[in-house]
Amino acid sequence: MVFPEQLNGLKVCFDGQLIAAEDSVVHLMTHGLHYATAAFEGIRIYNRTPFLLREHMERLHHSCNVLMMEVPYSVEQLCAQAQQVVDVNQIDFGYIRPLVWRGSEGMLIAGHGTKVHCAIAAWGVYESGRAEIRQRGANLGYSAHPKLHPSHTFWSTKATCIYALCYVIKREANANGYDDMVALDLDGYLTEVSSANLIFIKDGALVAPIPDCFLNGLTRQTVLKLAHQMGIAVHEVKVTKEMAAEADAAFLTGTALELLPIKKLAETEYEVEHPIFLQLEKAFHQLVNS
Ligand code: PMP
Repeated sequence: MVFPEQLNGLKVCFDGQLIAAEDSVVHLMTHGLHYATAAFEGIRIYNRTPFLLREHMERLHHSCNVLMMEVPYSVEQLCAQAQQVVDVNQIDFGYIRPLVWRGSEGMLIAGHGTKVHCAIAAWGVYESGRAEIRQRGANLGYSAHPKLHPSHTFWSTKATCIYALCYVIKREANANGYDDMVALDLDGYLTEVSSANLIFIKDGALVAPIPDCFLNGLTRQTVLKLAHQMGIAVHEVKVTKEMAAEADAAFLTGTALELLPIKKLAETEYEVEHPIFLQLEKAFHQLVNS
């Protein structure tokens, strides 16, 4: 059995039991694999403490509600399981990946008779190029793939079905020499990149696309809250390509990326070490390490 090497020798929580990562396998006929009846979370660990653990587990419940799947564990139980995985593996800084999915007990599309399963894995952070992009700033293009219509039920979730689009956008970026791509909504307004939110800085204020057809990330919410506390104005508005081209700076937010400055979006170059970005980055790092 081949499994991600960062899980080598670690334990995961699988349906409430701690087991070796290499034993955490699913059947070929898993409903979630065929019909995307699955949802996940991504949580960072700082100083052996998962950041915003409860909020992430509440979002997992929300994602599963939208997918009409009853999570077999309460938010409190999920939090306890996640902390147990962190503690048993002694992970001081890392990442937690909870996953909920319909099992292999039936193949009917509605999933009747299938069991809802839940697993939580965690591992020490590998930064996969993050530090290098932090230094030079991200290089972004505009994706040819539009986001979902706001009437679509899945956009506020981390249901795996939306990640097919995220995956295509990231592959498109890599194939075209970019770090990532900004997707537009169906009216041509800016939304986010493959799996992180986007915020601009203009005339001393933050300008953030309204999350009306894409995930309102917990990092985004944290950064906007910090900005309010620091007296930095925040405008949540529909952002056009013209507005993006006139901004002074821009950055990405997400659990995995934390805060990452943008150097270039299409033809527009931004200031990577903008003082407001640096202030927010410092405040964020102080918060997660407090
Ligand atoms: N958008 C998408 C599609 C994502 O996958 C993520 C990462 N979870 C984000 C935004 C940022 O969300 P968060 O800050 O909660 O990690």
